[in-house]
Amino acid sequence: MAVERTLSIIKPDATRRNLTGAIVARFEEAGLRVVAQRRMRLTPEQAQQFYAVHSERAFFDDLCAFMTSGPVVVQVLEGEDAIAKNREVMGATNPANADEGTIRRDFGESVEANSAHGSDAPETAAEEIAFFFRGIDIVG
Ligand code: ATP
Ligand code: MG
Repeated sequence: MAVERTLSIIKPDATRRNLTGAIVARFEEAGLRVVAQRRMRLTPEQAQQFYAVHSERAFFDDLCAFMTSGPVVVQVLEGEDAIAKNREVMGATNPANADEGTIRRDFGESVEANSAHGSDAPETAAEEIAFFFRGIDIVG
């Protein structure tokens, strides 16, 4: 195990329902530490660039519209095995398939409006963190 950093996004469905604190608490309870955080509204260009890997998928336009529909909270989580742990705490992409006690199971509204994003590998974590934060703004 190693100390890692990963990018997390609290999505617009969750900020709309005032769930920012409840979701951050799940990460902190799991031993992850918020080492950078910003509330912002994504532009369409930022959403398209961030989810570019999905640009050929049928849900891409809807996903970008959803991600720009309200504020998000972008944050860097740090801890042992942070990348896998973040995804474990979030649960499966579709809330209907997510384990009991996970963020998506407890808070997600649909496969699209699933309350949280988490990087899926060390390379994407590094890219996604650099997409939103400068090194000087990450304080461990
Ligand atoms: P994320 O990248 O947001 O952490 P994930 O890695 O679990 O989620 P991906 O396959 O990368 O899932 O999909 C990215 C996002 O696209 C999902 O979180 C969800 O918001 C949306 N999405 C995925 N599959 C669908 C689908 N079939 N219909 C609508 N939206 C979808
Ligand atoms: Mg993903």
